[in-house]
Amino acid sequence: AYNFNAGPSALPLPVLQKAQEELVDFRGSGMSVMELSHRSALYEEVHNEAISLLKELYGIPEEYHVLFLQGGASLQFSMVPMNFLPADKKAGYVMTGAWAEKALAEAKLIGEVFEAASTKEEAYRRIPQFDELKYEAGTAYLHLTSNNTIYGTQWTDFPDTGDVPLIADMSSDILCKPVDVSKFALIYAGAQKNLGPSGVTVVILRPDMLERASKNLPTMLRYATHVKNNSLYNTPPTFGIYMLGEVLKWVKTMGGTRELERLNREKANLIYDAIDNSNGFYRGHAEPGSRSLMNITFRLQSEELEKKFLADAKKEGFVGLNGHRSVGGCRASAYNAVPREACQALRDFMIRFQTENA
Ligand code: PLP
Repeated sequence: AYNFNAGPSALPLPVLQKAQEELVDFRGSGMSVMELSHRSALYEEVHNEAISLLKELYGIPEEYHVLFLQGGASLQFSMVPMNFLPADKKAGYVMTGAWAEKALAEAKLIGEVFEAASTKEEAYRRIPQFDELKYEAGTAYLHLTSNNTIYGTQWTDFPDTGDVPLIADMSSDILCKPVDVSKFALIYAGAQKNLGPSGVTVVILRPDMLERASKNLPTMLRYATHVKNNSLYNTPPTFGIYMLGEVLKWVKTMGGTRELERLNREKANLIYDAIDNSNGFYRGHAEPGSRSLMNITFRLQSEELEKKFLADAKKEGFVGLNGHRSVGGCRASAYNAVPREACQALRDFMIRFQTENA
């Protein structure tokens, strides 16, 4: 299948094959990695290897903490304000799509928030310019969504926010290109798009944030608990973390984030070119300057034609091309593990479909 699912999404084939080989006898232990105690030396090796590989591949400053949590990015929508939004401060949210709206809604349950910028009136077709961001010194934190999975827009660079901690939901574009992690106080991402299977949430945390974190929270909801216990306070999602480690090894063999960015650009451009050269047969949702490398969103001239496009695509082995149920249209999610050939095949199909149906 040409898997363009938005998440969970394609995993690198060599990773799946290696996991299959190792499934019942992991590194000569006579057990599956799923059967190992999370307190065993063998599991700890897997766990720590994944942490150090992520640090190496994403250029994470040495002192930052890397955590493997559960509850998805959605629980981070709550944990971030629970830990970092005190009663005497406000948190700013940059509104660039449906996931930012969800993050804001959760923060509102905890404390005072404001919209630092919003492109909602423009159907979230673009990312705001830095000079549109409105927040004051003393803001608890500024939250943004680095890639908007549903609308298909992505930040190309990030603002310097000075003393205001910058927090990002990078669920749908983590590791798709190099990022200056030192600009961020906290990054979180559900693993199920670029990092591995669902069930693991990665959190990258600048250590000074712990000093300002609320102490009056249930144990599992405090970042400090997971930092202190190297994400082994309770039983972690061991199989998911093992898979994440294998995906990271694959990223390394692919040449790291710089090489992945080059490849991702090439892949996305194959499809954007088919849109741009279609004389309006396909219409991209995102403004060109805000286009995502990961989620390519487009519409056809009528819903009827979109239905036919999706049905014909399905017959030819393309999976997951429907837009999110909230916006309709079409969306190709070309995450790191989606091979170039899949994007080339989609481009060829789009051109053929246009010729046959224009
Ligand atoms: N944030 C973004 C940008 C997403 O794309 C998604 C899921 O698609 C989420 C958050 C929610 O993630 P989870 O299902 O891990 O809670």
